[in-house]
Amino acid sequence: MNDLLDNKVILITGASSGIGAAAARLFSQEGARVVVAARREDRLAALVGELKEKGADAVYVVCDVTVAADAVRAVDVAVSTYGRLDGAFNNAGIGGDRTPLHLMGDDVYDVVMDTNVRGVWNCLRPEIAAMLATGGGAIVNNSSVGGLVAIPAASAYIAAKHAVVGLTRAAADEYAKQGIRVNAVAPGTTRSEITADWFGRNPGLEEMVNGLTPQGRTAEPQEIAAAAAWLLSDRCPFLTGTVLPVDGGFINQ
Ligand code: NDP
Repeated sequence: MNDLLDNKVILITGASSGIGAAAARLFSQEGARVVVAARREDRLAALVGELKEKGADAVYVVCDVTVAADAVRAVDVAVSTYGRLDGAFNNAGIGGDRTPLHLMGDDVYDVVMDTNVRGVWNCLRPEIAAMLATGGGAIVNNSSVGGLVAIPAASAYIAAKHAVVGLTRAAADEYAKQGIRVNAVAPGTTRSEITADWFGRNPGLEEMVNGLTPQGRTAEPQEIAAAAAWLLSDRCPFLTGTVLPVDGGFINQ
């Protein structure tokens, strides 16, 4: 059997750390040619160097997903380098402060919504246009368990991740007949820079969340990447518009 993502051209946003970097490594191992995008060029260059050393085909593009022209450029890099775009993992996102709603600043709301919602919106449009030009593709947006249920003191993040679920369903519905599948993953707590920041500033938070998670632990980033890889593959052709919790059972509680 072929590798899961054999020869597919896949754009990954937020690939300079955490889940996105793990996705770049895993998708490459599974045969994909990857275009890795984020703002920190040094991280992207190091990642592409590492992937190429392992024999993978990879290229990076500096991209701030809040800037529509950057998202267009990221897709253009994929198409000009590899001739097409087969898949996209819209993963870039930020956590924002953990603050009660009535104390949360407008600045936090703005940056969280801009990055986590407008960023996905900005990426979806050129990705879909590129996929329509070649007869289809698959997109996975990174929502969160916070896109399905509330978690405390993160109202802007919760609103943004619910909006990602809405965008996922809308896009899945609109482009189903044109061969584009759009799904989302909803990770539970996962080891990354976001959670290092949240856990660092909120002692006991990791233990509290793990206590609410049937598996009783924090996920490793590659466990989320593995679910995204499957959703981007040809192994689930009838699967679109779904939001897949990857959460150790958290939302069943
Ligand atoms: P990290 O902070 O490690 O990764 C976030 C990535 O997003 C970085 O590569 C960062 O790169 C990128 N990013 C942030 N802002 C922008 C921007 N404006 N333009 C382009 N890239 C941007 O955290 P995670 O790996 O955890 O986060 C990845 C996704 O997973 C996020 O959407 C997050 O909400 C989601 N998620 C994470 C969970 C967790 O527990 N870790 C749980 C549920 C969902 P750079 O700074 O270089 O631009």
